[in-house]
Amino acid sequence: MTEPANPPVFDGHNDVLLRLPLQGRSFFERGTRGHLDLPRALEGGFGGGFFACYAPNPRKEWSEEAAISYTEQGYDISPAPRLDTGRAVRSTLAAAARLFRIETESEGKLKVVRSASEIEECLERGVIAAVPHVEGAEAIGEELDELEVLYRAGLRSLGPVWSRSNIFGHGVPFRFPGSPDTGPGLTETGRKLIRECGRLGVMVDLSHLNERGFWDVAGITDRPLVATHSNAHALCDTPRNLTDRQLDAIRDSGGMVGVNFAVAFLRSDGRQEPDTPITEIVRHVDHMVERMGVDHVGLGSDFDGATVPRELGDVSGLPRLLDRLRERGYGPEELRKLASGNWLRVLRKTWGE
Ligand code: ZN
Repeated sequence: MTEPANPPVFDGHNDVLLRLPLQGRSFFERGTRGHLDLPRALEGGFGGGFFACYAPNPRKEWSEEAAISYTEQGYDISPAPRLDTGRAVRSTLAAAARLFRIETESEGKLKVVRSASEIEECLERGVIAAVPHVEGAEAIGEELDELEVLYRAGLRSLGPVWSRSNIFGHGVPFRFPGSPDTGPGLTETGRKLIRECGRLGVMVDLSHLNERGFWDVAGITDRPLVATHSNAHALCDTPRNLTDRQLDAIRDSGGMVGVNFAVAFLRSDGRQEPDTPITEIVRHVDHMVERMGVDHVGLGSDFDGATVPRELGDVSGLPRLLDRLRERGYGPEELRKLASGNWLRVLRKTWGE
């Protein structure tokens, strides 16, 4: 008997562009820290995904470790303050530049892609397909000039907010337990941003938006609703996860959710505990498939941005996740949809090509 071949995984979210300089490692060398680099990606059958261009708050201003307080049932992290615009522009462009340099140095092993057919071609040829994703649009000003330029440079995906407020809207805080209904929705400028993304064909990621912001986007756009790296609130009660009503709206729009591997968004106790079995990821896949159908679920690892189950380890552990899904009863066609097929369908619809 030969082992069943795994389909390549196209993934909803990673933070490798942020993590490489912080950990002083190269994308081209096999690391012992972090989750994602080229050797480990090839080993794990990682076909590509969304590469976040994220602008962090300066550490002296805000850090998760300093902002966390523990409560009786869980934790509460006070939200990051608004980000200085000049700093946001520099960090966002630095991350995008890093991705373009990786593309050049990769000698054809990684390609920055701008269409669904390019992704498909990359998956067939074993080339890593990278979609630049702006996570938190602080680098974009009220006139949206930067969006125009970033689009022309290859930007095809954008989250209006990270888990903090900006001129477009309000992100959800990290806490447990907690509802995603944490405050007001999009601003007028936020609405303008969503309409402009629709005109250009830039995918809007709902993952860090609060619930009112989510419904605001749903009311404006005619594109599929997408959360690139979020889980089911019914199974893990954190504002970063989606309620069943939100999942229903995503299904009805023809959209999808990338299931996040962050243990804090998987576990029913919300704990940041690396000793969490891979089957916790499967549990969220199951819930979403039951609620929305297998056409509306994918993966959104959050590699290099979160604590993932030790049993998975890093990107080279993806085959173990696919094995667990197979054991759970997902057949080859369903696995292909979960691994990349649904992303391809949604992106074709969103990007119009
Ligand atoms: Zn994120």
